[in-house]
Amino acid sequence: MSHHAHRIPILDLSPQTDALWDQLEAATQRVMRSGRFILGPEVQAFEQEAADYLGVEHALGCNSGTDALVMSLRALGIAPGDEVVTTSFTFFATAEAISIVGAKPVFVDIEPASMNIDPGALEEAITENTRAVVVVHLFGHAAQMDAIREIAQRHGLKILEDAAQAFGGGYRGTKLGSIGDTGAFSFFPSKNLGAFGDGGLVTTNDSQVADTIRLLRGHGSIRRYENEVLGYNSRLDEMQAAVLRVKLPHIDRWNEGRRRAAQRYNELLADTPWIETPTAHEDAYHVYHQYTVRIHGGRRDEIAARLDDAEISSMVYYPVPVHALPVYAAEVHAELPVTMQAASEVLSLPIGPSLPEENIVRVVEALKSCGHSAAA
Ligand SMILES: *Cc1c(COP(=O)(O)O)cnc(C)c1O
Repeated sequence: MSHHAHRIPILDLSPQTDALWDQLEAATQRVMRSGRFILGPEVQAFEQEAADYLGVEHALGCNSGTDALVMSLRALGIAPGDEVVTTSFTFFATAEAISIVGAKPVFVDIEPASMNIDPGALEEAITENTRAVVVVHLFGHAAQMDAIREIAQRHGLKILEDAAQAFGGGYRGTKLGSIGDTGAFSFFPSKNLGAFGDGGLVTTNDSQVADTIRLLRGHGSIRRYENEVLGYNSRLDEMQAAVLRVKLPHIDRWNEGRRRAAQRYNELLADTPWIETPTAHEDAYHVYHQYTVRIHGGRRDEIAARLDDAEISSMVYYPVPVHALPVYAAEVHAELPVTMQAASEVLSLPIGPSLPEENIVRVVEALKSCGHSAAA
């Protein structure tokens, strides 16, 4: 019954690319002519602009959000034998980074409403080997940072914010990624601030941590042929930095557009009891990297299929919690009932900085028509 001409994608990047086309073209051409392609003036300028925007002392570009996590953990001194508490309801890279540095990820349950790490569960999981917590601001929504900070202080834990989905998001007037010991951002193209390829950023107010990140991203050397430690080839390139510099001044407006779309969905879905819409807690400035509802009654997969029939894209973030993925399932025996239920109910709907009203209405109508036919 799809008589609509076009499919509604989960995210449409073309309006922002079209609107900024001339600036993007000028920026990329400037880089091609410059002869500087890796860690040059564009990266330096972007790092300063991002640090100013986020309100941190240091911002360091790197290859990806995953590398930002890995290098953060190493710069914070996390090593084999250490335990790092985190959420299982996240993208795999959060836990992968912990394992890659030789530490053990300890998965704890989430809060039912925000689906972010539950501070009470975090505290219960702390042992004498716990050194850090990796907090994820899932879908652009701040975790309970005051409670987490208080627990971390009492137990001497480092805090790493995985802010890959939360560029521009806030907590009590402070930008996410500026609260913990380090913040890790991703510029994967579909993130709220996305490049034309891979890219990442580490943020910190600790100049020693910043120096270590600088060392690690360039093969463990600051001066050529004086390699001090084993590091990585993990640098941001000039082309991506130039693109990000064009986009950064627009991030607040784009996040506002996402918030407006979310607000509109919430209004239109308010009278649909089998769909639970997302709510932001009052300390959070939610930037809706995803607009994720929960479908009650065991019908999530059926509803996703019916949306697909109506030419509407949706996604399940995340169908399998990280602790249940093959790489961890054999050794991790965590009971995470709130996480398991979330994984069976979540459905992310089309969202973006300039999602047209007519698309929102079409998605809502398609959802509501599923409700009617189920009752019939
Ligand atoms: C995207 C993402 C990452 C990884 O970022 P990449 O740039 O793809 O490496 C890490 N954590 C979360 C929560 C993410 O969404």
